[in-house]
Amino acid sequence: MTEKQQVCVYTYWVTEVWEGSNMVSRSSELMSVSCSSGGGTSGGGGTGDPIATPIKVELKPDSLKKKFPCAAQILESLESYPQLSDFLAPFIKIGADSVKANLSWFDDPKLDWNSVGSTTYGETRSDPKQRVGSEIYLNSNMLKNSSPALISTVMVHEMIHAYFNNITTMQGYDVVADDSKPILERLSEYAKVSASLNGRDHLTILASYVGTIAEVVGLSDGNKKSKEVYFKLAIGSLNNDGKTPSNTFASTYKDLLDKINKDNKFSITIDNASQMISLNRSVPKSERAKCLL
Ligand SMILES: [Zn+2]
Repeated sequence: MTEKQQVCVYTYWVTEVWEGSNMVSRSSELMSVSCSSGGGTSGGGGTGDPIATPIKVELKPDSLKKKFPCAAQILESLESYPQLSDFLAPFIKIGADSVKANLSWFDDPKLDWNSVGSTTYGETRSDPKQRVGSEIYLNSNMLKNSSPALISTVMVHEMIHAYFNNITTMQGYDVVADDSKPILERLSEYAKVSASLNGRDHLTILASYVGTIAEVVGLSDGNKKSKEVYFKLAIGSLNNDGKTPSNTFASTYKDLLDKINKDNKFSITIDNASQMISLNRSVPKSERAKCLL
């Protein structure tokens, strides 16, 4: 038996100013709050409690929202889809009074943006100051140059990393939904065939979340492109298991990709998925989010 109690996910945009390696200022702005109504655990196969409409928050002129208003709009649109709320549901399951899953969003001009070498589109770090919070960094160059479809793909990708970062902590506070237990099992299964936590997360995403990412990104992008294109964007950034991949990573990755292709009659390969990311990385001005022009 559980008492009815409201638990909320707080989403922040955060702006940092750096001079060399020194951070000279940092401001955060509450962007939206999504609350569950509480009401006990759901039955088998349930998808959790309904989520209230995010609260609109007044903008401050010096905020990231001013620098990247389109990115803020994309994130708000993503948060409004029930497909995404369903996967975030364990974040907001009722639990101890003080348990809040804060996702703080940053733009980061220092993340790698190399055309030939490595590029880091986004990065998620556990927030050491919070028990179940994460900080999500989005590459400023991506926000300026990439297609809205790639930006939203990276946003959802990083939200899933944040979810995985925190799910074991949340389990300790008894705030993980019963129906998310298979996720914990899959995470430990894929940890055995991966060299890094990144690889573990990426195989779990490939096994369970690629369809959700593609669907939500397609909706927020007005489904201007084909379903296969949105799948390619979702898959193109998952072939990463740290600097030295585990021996079993590639074969597990291939099996999961084969299944996606068979189930959907797609012909996605690691190469054509990576090419799709490259195509969306620096697009002509007319194809970028209009308010970034
Ligand atoms: Zn990742």
